[in-house]
Amino acid sequence: MAHPPTVAGIGLGGNAGQPERTLQRATERLHLVPDTRVVACSPTYWTPPWGVSAPQPDYLNAVVLVETHLGAPALLLALQVIEHDLGRVRSAERNAARTVDLDVLFYGQAIIDQPDLVVPHPRLSQRAFVLLPLADVAPKLELPGLDRVEHLLDALDPDDFDRIRPAGVTLSVEGQAGVAD
Ligand code: ADP
Ligand code: MG
Repeated sequence: MAHPPTVAGIGLGGNAGQPERTLQRATERLHLVPDTRVVACSPTYWTPPWGVSAPQPDYLNAVVLVETHLGAPALLLALQVIEHDLGRVRSAERNAARTVDLDVLFYGQAIIDQPDLVVPHPRLSQRAFVLLPLADVAPKLELPGLDRVEHLLDALDPDDFDRIRPAGVTLSVEGQAGVAD
């Protein structure tokens, strides 16, 4: 059964291979997911890897908003297919370098707590590399069970922002070049 149109936030990140190219391809693939269209692409940011000991390249991060008629589990499945197709090899090592990581940051006003799907994303409110691009496209958004995006951003440690640099890579889908909000 088709779900009512719902705006969902997708967190994109990648630090192996050519992240600029991979994130652009992931964005195009999101627009091709059935019953789903990309409605906004955030600017991109370079972020040093979080919580790793061995050296790794910086991550390219962005947030894409989609409007979808898929339910949240079907949307997650679609993200996992894209991750797989774009060459992500799952590693047992947590926080291992990855070609592309696609997370459901939020799904409308839904609060989901399933073993394989937690929405809003549990680490969203601690991650500057998620909140910064999310605030670029949806600053006033009220995240269910949390707070307004811009308030979550204000609550972060200012040192976190010093580690993040604008990347200047523009993500877009055909017919929506440079769509920002
Ligand atoms: P992470 O994104 O935390 O670095 P992974 O991408 O490897 O790690 O995700 C591991 C698991 O997280 C997936 O198998 C997925 O079922 C689960 N998961 C739970 N909630 C979410 C969510 N909101 N978005 C994406 N994956 C999620
Ligand atoms: Mg993930």
